[in-house]
Amino acid sequence: MIKAKKSLGQNFLIDKNILDKITNVTNIEDQIILEIGPGTGNLTSFILKKKPKKFFVIEKDDNLANDLIKKFNKQLTIINEDILKIDETSLFKEKVKVFGNLPYNISTEILTKWIINLKSKFWFDCLVLMFQKEVADRIIAKFNTSNYGRLSIICNWKLNIKKICDIKPEAFSPKPKIDSSLLLFYPKKNFIKIKNPNKLEKITRIFFNQRRKMLKKPFNQLFNGDQKILDKLKIDLTMRPQNLDLETYYKIACEYENLSC
Ligand code: SAH
Repeated sequence: MIKAKKSLGQNFLIDKNILDKITNVTNIEDQIILEIGPGTGNLTSFILKKKPKKFFVIEKDDNLANDLIKKFNKQLTIINEDILKIDETSLFKEKVKVFGNLPYNISTEILTKWIINLKSKFWFDCLVLMFQKEVADRIIAKFNTSNYGRLSIICNWKLNIKKICDIKPEAFSPKPKIDSSLLLFYPKKNFIKIKNPNKLEKITRIFFNQRRKMLKKPFNQLFNGDQKILDKLKIDLTMRPQNLDLETYYKIACEYENLSC
């Protein structure tokens, strides 16, 4: 019996209906698949049944990685590493489909890293990822709602996002205390170009640090009250950060970028 490590966010999926549902989100047959945090290999087995062309898994836990080698032998390429330390952009020659029941404590960190680090080309076809429901709600939030913020703005910049379903704690062992949600992400064909994505991170941080305050203060902090930029962006500075739509934030990032070069 494997003892789950809390520090590695180990909650293994055991509900067969959910496992089946996850592997039906996108076509797997003949595709290159990457699974992050395969754990005891429950989702891994379901993915294998769908006959991927190549199958890579990245698992940080040494014991679990060894068990996976014994269990699956040559059917997978097992990378016993920390996903946060891997440069996935250079790992694959062809586009991959990524699956992950990620540890909740690092899931947003991984996703924002992937978006911010994206070079001109996408290295993935789609991402099928599990999140804590509350985090998923923030990722998919629309403007003018209280969940809208940094995560929604950064995630929606280059990716389309679709919620597949919510998942109850009973689907896992050990049972987590919170509900989960499964999201599908796939690349947008068109998005506003921001050369240095860290600028988008910075401006969203400045705007949402005081989400209840008027836009006047963060705008002045970034642009020194520049009237020309204000006219161009057509922002009402008496509104709050959550009232600006996604596009406006991407435009603000571009203006900020122009200013600093
Ligand atoms: N996908 C499996 C397990 C989910 S639990 C299932 O659904 O049953 C999360 C898994 O991620 C665990 O196996 C844990 O060891 C692994 N993990 C945690 N942190 C990781 C990291 N930084 N890099 C790679 N894997 C990690």
